[in-house]
Amino acid sequence: MPCQKSGKNRDRHQFKNLAGFSGLFHGVYTRHGGVSQPPFDSLNVSWNVGDEEERVRCNLLKIQAEMGVDVVVGSPQVHGDEVHIIDEAAVSSCAGHHPLLITPPGDALVTRLKGVGLLIKVADCQSILLLDPVSEAIANVHSGWRGSVAEIVKKTVSIMAERLDADPSSMLAAIGPSLGPCCAEFVNHERELPKSFLDFQVRPNHFDFWAITRRQLMDAGLKEENIEIAGRCTVCEKENFFSYRGLGETGRLASVIGWKPVH
Ligand SMILES: [Zn+2]
Repeated sequence: MPCQKSGKNRDRHQFKNLAGFSGLFHGVYTRHGGVSQPPFDSLNVSWNVGDEEERVRCNLLKIQAEMGVDVVVGSPQVHGDEVHIIDEAAVSSCAGHHPLLITPPGDALVTRLKGVGLLIKVADCQSILLLDPVSEAIANVHSGWRGSVAEIVKKTVSIMAERLDADPSSMLAAIGPSLGPCCAEFVNHERELPKSFLDFQVRPNHFDFWAITRRQLMDAGLKEENIEIAGRCTVCEKENFFSYRGLGETGRLASVIGWKPVH
């Protein structure tokens, strides 16, 4: 199958608070503009949902070209709280699956390297993009409800501060299109969610996970005004986004962030 070059850029949700940083590419792509066939139509970036390998590769190559980065790093996402720091040693120990470099299993990627794109795959789960403008540390975090329970976003901010000199009070965060309070029904919440989440119950069995993530980021030291929520529910907007709850067998969206290389 030819991987055709197209001059048209794909649509992605971009955040006001991350725009305007020279050399930073970011966004959550819609499902449009790729080469995968139904039910993965069309910009699916997961090899693990039943799509054809070559089509996924082609979609990833288009995204990498738009990002303008040398490499794109992704993880087998396991709904845990493992955070990977992508330094030069980590890049060289990744497994190659062209055009992706694959880390060990994990759900958050952090780097300060230029030319390295961080990829998170989602279909209703949140991707949370982080930027510390001072240290230039960036992160991409995968957080479904299990990630919210494990507070992976807080753990990521702590590791950025401890290991990469990031300052939470200057950090910017962006919460991507994902399951909204309109559709986040958890009938087993008494078993699955901690009692503290009840503060975010918007009607019986429905929870606002966007607000939960914002609360966790603020607990980690971020300022409320530095946190931007896309406010787009993937279930309600499944014509533009892949939604596991809304569609069942479907693709995975690409959420990306990365500094362009300095050549
Ligand atoms: Zn919804």
